[in-house]
Amino acid sequence: TGPTASGSVGGLDFDVRPSDRPRSPDERAALLESPGFGQIFTDHMVTIRYESGKGWYDARLEPYGPLSLDPATAALHYGQEIFEGLKAYRREDGTIALFRPEANAARLNRSARRMAMPELPEDVFVRAIELLLEHDSAWVPSREGHSLYLRPFMFATQVGMGVNSPSASYLFAVIASPSAAYFSGAVKPVRVWLSEDYTRAAPGGTGEAKCAGNYAASFLAQAEAVQRGCDQVVWLDAAEHRWVEEMGGMNLFFVFGSGADARLVTPELNGALLPGITRDSLLRLAPELGWSVEEGRISTEQWRAAAESGELTEVFACGTAAVITPVGSVRSASGDWQHGDGTPGPVTLRLREELVGIQYGLRPDPYGWVR
Ligand code: PMP
Repeated sequence: TGPTASGSVGGLDFDVRPSDRPRSPDERAALLESPGFGQIFTDHMVTIRYESGKGWYDARLEPYGPLSLDPATAALHYGQEIFEGLKAYRREDGTIALFRPEANAARLNRSARRMAMPELPEDVFVRAIELLLEHDSAWVPSREGHSLYLRPFMFATQVGMGVNSPSASYLFAVIASPSAAYFSGAVKPVRVWLSEDYTRAAPGGTGEAKCAGNYAASFLAQAEAVQRGCDQVVWLDAAEHRWVEEMGGMNLFFVFGSGADARLVTPELNGALLPGITRDSLLRLAPELGWSVEEGRISTEQWRAAAESGELTEVFACGTAAVITPVGSVRSASGDWQHGDGTPGPVTLRLREELVGIQYGLRPDPYGWVR
């Protein structure tokens, strides 16, 4: 038999069952007025099932809707769940772009290996996203700074409470949520809280996997950050609570010096922090703009001393959701400090302009990142 309407990818044919009750253009326009972040969802989703011995099967596009789960479903008890996050961008010519989706596919599979879950062929991952976009393209917002946030995820579906082995079955799904900027308004610097009591990830743990439990473990510290008048928590290493790792959903860059002599440093990938795709992209972009960049170690003492001496001129956070967000000031149990005059610095703004420009097609893409 020939391929279906959507074609066969990785030996899988997607069964396409579009919704017979999609929202009207008017309803959609009203929802896109002020979408918030991760609050509303498009008309469809993609699901693919897995069973050990059988592999991936039953790939479909279907109406977005609730999943029915047995109360003994493994993911609900032992937390075998991993996810990804990427965006579809509406360009000025009306076309839609994805930014490095293969990198998300590869990271999902690294997370899967750590969590003893099956890997999904990268072309199936990308095809699942493209199929969803073909059906829900009208949900990709055109307003500046808005995008369609895509959330691929996979979780254990075996029914039973045996705790000695991973689940034998899984569901992979992709849902999509039109979203405004993660941090609302213009490029506004955030204030961060150094978490010296809680630990996000330890050596040998799951820090570099994008698994649900890492986020569950972070909410209490994030609440503490808010209580202290901060926007986000900064995680430090587990052993000494001294070495800077990352933020709740973003990686960090430190800018020393200024102008053509600016030098960027980002915490090295030590197994405890998430290898961000934005981080990786900036490691390539910064040298193109003439700045040296290195992966290294930064302690909280160095951070504070360099900020106070003026040697550290800018700090910013980066991630798919947050794009590039300046860190204006820091609060810790032992005191507060700020970077420069607390306003967004020129290196931060220039990198942001370059990255966003590539994503929205306003700048050339010599790296082949855009699809
Ligand atoms: N760190 C954590 C803990 C994250 O959840 C994210 C978001 N995926 C990032 C960093 C940034 O990663 P990316 O640039 O791939 O969005």
